[in-house]
This record gives sequence, C-alpha cells and structure tokens, in this order.
Amino acid sequence: MIIGERKPLEEVFDRTSSFNKILVLGCETCVAVCLAGGKKEAEETAEAISLHRKKENQPVEVKAESVQRQCEFEFIDEFKDLMNDYDVVLSLACGVGVQTMVDRYPEKIVLPGLNTTFLGYPLEQGVWMENCQACGDCVLDKTHGICPITRCTKSMLNGPCGGSSEGKCEISGDIEIECGWHLIHERLKALGKLDYMEEVEPPKNWSTSFHGGPRKIVREDVKIVRGE
Ligand code: SF4
Ligand code: SF4
Repeated sequence: MIIGERKPLEEVFDRTSSFNKILVLGCETCVAVCLAGGKKEAEETAEAISLHRKKENQPVEVKAESVQRQCEFEFIDEFKDLMNDYDVVLSLACGVGVQTMVDRYPEKIVLPGLNTTFLGYPLEQGVWMENCQACGDCVLDKTHGICPITRCTKSMLNGPCGGSSEGKCEISGDIEIECGWHLIHERLKALGKLDYMEEVEPPKNWSTSFHGGPRKIVREDVKIVRGE
C-alpha cells in the first residue's frame, strides 16, 4: 500500500494561515490503514488548526471529512456541493489523491497535508517498511519474493556487493539496514534454489520505471469509447 506521514502541524498551520474556510479531507484507504490520513487524522488535524487559530485570535471555519478513495473521480464527486463552501482543501490523501482532487476541482486550492513516503507494508504495529519501487518489470519471480531494487541499497540485480556484514548493509548508520542480497540468499537457500546466485542478470530494461517521465497504462479492452 501507499505509506504516508502527516506533515508537521507547524507546516500545516503556516500553509493554511491565509485561509478562513478550510476543508480537511481524509482518505479511507491506504493512508487510513497506515494511520496518517483517515477520518480520525482528518478530525485531529481540523481540531489542531481550530485551536491554533483560536490561540492566535484568528477565527477560522474548519471541517473534517473523509472519502473512501481520493484517487477516483466517482468518490470525490460526492464533495461537489461541499467544495463551494470552502476556500481551500487540506488533503490528507497521498500525492495521487491530492492531484486527483486538483484535476477534478481545478478552481480550488488543494494543499497536501501528508508527505507521501513509499510503497510498503506494516512490519508490526507502528513500523512500516518500503518493499517496492514500482519499477514496472517485476523480478520477484527470480529472487523469490524479495525485491533487489528496493531491499538492496544499491538496487543491484547481481549481488551481494561484498560489503555486507552479519546480514547488514554496509551503508547502515544509526539505523541498521538489512542486506537485501543476504535476505535473498537466505530465501533461496531455504527453498533449495541457490543455483540462481550463480546466474548473471543482464542489465535491466529501465524504460518501464519512472525515470523516463510519468508512466501511463492504456487498456483498449476496458476503455469506454464515447459516441458509438
Ligand atoms: S522488482 Fe520492481 S515491481 Fe517488483 S517488487 Fe521490486 S520494484 Fe516492485
Ligand atoms: S551490502 Fe547488501 S544491501 Fe547493501 S549495497 Fe551491498 S548487496 Fe546491497
């Protein structure tokens, strides 16, 4: 899922300081699951803005709402009427949700209330880890479920680099990073597939990754052709 973190409140107060009618809009999917941008966080943020303004003697009208998915028009269309009542939307969705709102409501100012951080999953309560960089050409079949692009700090397709120590990546600092290729080795060993470590992967075709600009998928089989 998409993982995000709430922006510091001071930044939120600063960015919204010139607006007097603020709609704080949460999203009930990924960012709600990672406890950053759901209904509860939208309510907390709205409350914090309201208290801050009261303290500053600057009245504000602020409302918290949330939507099932901010990244789909059919869900955000529900807010059409409400949008007219507010000067600004503080979106607690990921960057995709913020931009979907801007696309649908181009006349509105939509500010991000989250920092979108990565694609990952919760390791345990309160700990999330990145494990996919959406490269567009998945190699998890070869490494049996551990992504070398994300889990190896150097994104090496042939590893390890020789710098790992006791299963930790050589770039570990204050935070220890597991060596992705150590993990791959252990996984292959457990599955009896260590032969793969002898293979040399040719250079990856990175044209499917984000380095060539925004990617787009067009599915002619599911597109709706208007006027037929
Ligand atoms: S190989 Fe690419 S698509 Fe597969 S998990 Fe890694 S980054 Fe994601
Ligand atoms: S130590 Fe492991 S994770 Fe770090 S760069 Fe080398 S192979 Fe990759």
